[in-house]
Amino acid sequence: MTSALRFDPIRLPPECEELRKEVRAFLAEEISRGTFDPHHPFSEENDNREFARRVGERGWLGITWPKKYGGHERSYLERYVVTEEMRVANAPTRRFFVADRQSGPVLLKYAPERIKMDILPRICRGEVCFSIGMSEPGSGSDLFAAKTKATKTDGGYLINGTKIWTTSAHIADYMIAVFRTSPPTKENRRHGLTQFLVDMKTPGIKVNPINQMSGQKEFNEVVFEDAFMPDDHVLGEIDGAWKQATSELAYERSGPERFLETYYVLTELVRSIGPNPDSRAAEGIGRLVAQLHTMRRMSVSVAGMLSAGKEPVVEAAIVKDIGTLWEQALPHRVRDLAAFVDPESTNHPALSEQLAFATKIAPKLTIQGGTTEVLRGIIARGLGLR
Ligand SMILES: Cc1cc2nc3c(=O)[nH]c(=O)nc-3n(C[C@H](O)[C@H](O)[C@H](O)COP(=O)(O)OP(=O)(O)OC[C@H]3O[C@@H](n4cnc5c(N)ncnc54)[C@H](O)[C@@H]3O)c2cc1C
Repeated sequence: MTSALRFDPIRLPPECEELRKEVRAFLAEEISRGTFDPHHPFSEENDNREFARRVGERGWLGITWPKKYGGHERSYLERYVVTEEMRVANAPTRRFFVADRQSGPVLLKYAPERIKMDILPRICRGEVCFSIGMSEPGSGSDLFAAKTKATKTDGGYLINGTKIWTTSAHIADYMIAVFRTSPPTKENRRHGLTQFLVDMKTPGIKVNPINQMSGQKEFNEVVFEDAFMPDDHVLGEIDGAWKQATSELAYERSGPERFLETYYVLTELVRSIGPNPDSRAAEGIGRLVAQLHTMRRMSVSVAGMLSAGKEPVVEAAIVKDIGTLWEQALPHRVRDLAAFVDPESTNHPALSEQLAFATKIAPKLTIQGGTTEVLRGIIARGLGLR
């Protein structure tokens, strides 16, 4: 067994708590001006351009990036606090979340200077929305089986094929996608995929919505028919996307959004039960909060390690595995504890409505960002067990 698995005991420094106060005050102001309702996580307003711009104005997008690209050169831990507060408040982050978490860091590492100077400041101002084009019909977990083809032509590539489950493609300005530029080799079946920046306005791209049982309109099928990508939209090494996508996933898998997606049912339960729970309710809530606290320590630890320039891929997979199972089970646990809620309590209808919604979205939680089984494969490999 390897000794590589490690969670550094990181605590949020004082500047993070100052920032937390600022974010809370900003969100309270947004709630009072009617931008969003924190008790309605299912609101269509999760996509809100003006809110994105105002978050950008505060300096909370691209918070860790160099100033020359519009960033603020602050720490990942400060970014963690902003994400956590936005998530807990159910703020409408859809327009900027992926760009800030994932696409921007990819561009920073691999895009040509011209593209970085053009797009990164716009992400920081909350002006552009990104999506991720990895999954295809027939290749989800097995990303390296992707077939959507990029064929070399004069000055660029022609793209043909289909991406699926592409969150926010219907509102996105750009996508970062992997396309096949060469067949896999016998020695390396991961070889042959290249990462591209896709401008969603490119002729030959069609976005077809996929309806979800929760009623949300979140993700899509994206069809490419001879869509032209110029040479300078290649990100990093041709045929070498497999080396690049792994560290990207560490950012995707370990943040507070990986265990807080159904958190609102817990806060609504606590509000419903009130300040004097009986011993059974107190025990049930205490257990959930203790679990949450432990996961959060692990997740902060991963953020701290990312901040220190490490690549905690296995630790991030563990946070995602534990986190998504917890947030998936949470609506059921809260439903049990809701038996102790007085049916006359003022927010009883809100709790019922939230529980119904959380129950409908729960199945997806252990699939998005890598399924539980796949993550366990990664963890086992990291521990030297396979
Ligand atoms: C809400 C949501 C949003 C998403 N957003 C995006 C997005 O923006 N962009 C994007 O590219 N994709 C997105 N996805 C797709 C997601 O990444 C894939 O659904 C996921 O990778 C699983 O792929 P699949 O659906 O093809 O299932 P499969 O890979 O076919 O898996 C089917 C089952 O087989 C199991 N399995 C597969 N391989 C292994 C293995 N090696 N070992 C053990 N078990 C295995 C899986 O765990 C699963 O239970 C999203 C998915 C959801 C639910």
